[in-house]
Amino acid sequence: MKNLIEEIKNLKEEKNAIILAHSYQNIEIDQVADFVGDSLYLSQKAKETNADIIVFAGVYFMAQTAKIISPEKKVLLPNLNAGCLMADMINHEQMVEFKKDYPDTPVVCYINSTAEVKAECDICCTSSNALDIVKSLNTQKVLFIPDANLGKWVERQLNGVEVITYDGNCPVHNSVTVEDIKNTRTKYPDSKILIHPECKPEVSELGDYVGSTSGIIDYVRNSHDKKFVIVTEKGVYDRLKRDYPDKEFILIKNNMLCDSMKLTTLDEILYSLKYGVNEITLDDEVRRLSSNCIERMLKVSK
Ligand code: SF4
Repeated sequence: MKNLIEEIKNLKEEKNAIILAHSYQNIEIDQVADFVGDSLYLSQKAKETNADIIVFAGVYFMAQTAKIISPEKKVLLPNLNAGCLMADMINHEQMVEFKKDYPDTPVVCYINSTAEVKAECDICCTSSNALDIVKSLNTQKVLFIPDANLGKWVERQLNGVEVITYDGNCPVHNSVTVEDIKNTRTKYPDSKILIHPECKPEVSELGDYVGSTSGIIDYVRNSHDKKFVIVTEKGVYDRLKRDYPDKEFILIKNNMLCDSMKLTTLDEILYSLKYGVNEITLDDEVRRLSSNCIERMLKVSK
């Protein structure tokens, strides 16, 4: 593995490439990554970089987002089968149908969606900034796609704003139940429960903290508490265990695994970078329209 890592690092330098890795990736990928984080953080890095090539260790919509933001760069997704079940729940046709009945209502689109769907929306958001994005619209009613759980969570936080949600979800986070949280609270009464807002809103209600993957990691970093229950994908738990050996972490359930996120391997990163394969391309018009949606988000989240 040492040789593999060295070879990837050398290639990065030779080709002026960077590797962006999502916090749900297999943890060994951090050894070659320039930046590791959540969707918002990685989008910002994709925009700022002077690299010629971005290798995205993540899922398809993330690499597509990097390409939307940085069209002049070559963006590679080492494993093209790495999709997102939530993003796949709404296609362009379903998007057009969904907003047809609400002609004057702004549409907020969670970043976990395809470029074709983003092209139909007014502004993008991530789980880090969803509240600020909806607030920035200064309106009483918004459409929110595709994650119903995140949309309803935002509605609960904002008194008086109606959030009309599409019926999508992340099966990994959606599988957590109120009983799971209550049982864990009973078993570990002295722990803090940290929940990702892709969980059902009635689950999120029971957390000591609700936030994005970066938010959860920041919470642990800044907390004097010693024991935490992690209610999101296992990659976050793995990194917290590695980075905070003096603290104790409990993963809410063993099956908090996103299969797509775990597809990418170091071998595939090497192959993709070495031969420049698995490049993301976009139709010009889709890129232009979806770019408006993402740029508006980045302005609000500066
Ligand atoms: S964890 Fe859920 S939302 Fe995230 S990439 Fe996997 S399926 Fe999509």
